[in-house]
Amino acid sequence: MPTYYFACAPCEKSYEVVLRVADRKDPQYCSKCEQLLDRRPEPFRARTFEPYYDEALGCDVHTEEEKQQILRENGWVEAGDTVGGSRNIETSANATLLDKQPLAGIPYKGVRTPDEDFNVVVESESGVERTVRLGDLPTPADLVDNKKADDAFKTPAEGTAE
Ligand SMILES: [Zn+2]
Repeated sequence: MPTYYFACAPCEKSYEVVLRVADRKDPQYCSKCEQLLDRRPEPFRARTFEPYYDEALGCDVHTEEEKQQILRENGWVEAGDTVGGSRNIETSANATLLDKQPLAGIPYKGVRTPDEDFNVVVESESGVERTVRLGDLPTPADLVDNKKADDAFKTPAEGTAE
C-alpha cells in the first residue's frame, strides 16, 4: 500500500500514512489536535546520481534514466545487475568497470557499432588492468560462450599460463 503524506498546520506536525489507494481520499485527523489534516505531495527524495563522463559509454551520463537507456539501447547489462549478474555478464558491463570521471561535455551519440575503434580499460579477475578496443570486447551474444568471454578479459600473461 502506498504511503501518503499529511500535515497539521497548527501543530506543524507531518504525518506519513499508509493507505489503500481506494482510501487515499479519506479524511485524516491530527492525533494531537484532531483537526483535519492537509494532504501534502510526496516529499522530494534526494537523488544520489552524480553526472559523470563514462569512458566505456563514451559520453557524459547525466541521470540514471539516461544511463539505463544507453545500456538498454546497446544491449549491455550493468555490473552488479541482480538478474544477469553472473561473473561473465559483469565483464560485459564495460560501462561500470571504470571509475567515474568528471563530465567531459561529450553527449551520447547513439548505439555504438561493435567494431568501433575505442579503447577502454578492463580489469581481469586477478585485478590486472589493461586497455582493449571496445570492438574487441565480448558482445552480450558472446557471453553465452563463457570461454570466449573469459579469453577476452585475460591478460596476455594469464592467457599463456593455460
Ligand atoms: Zn494538529
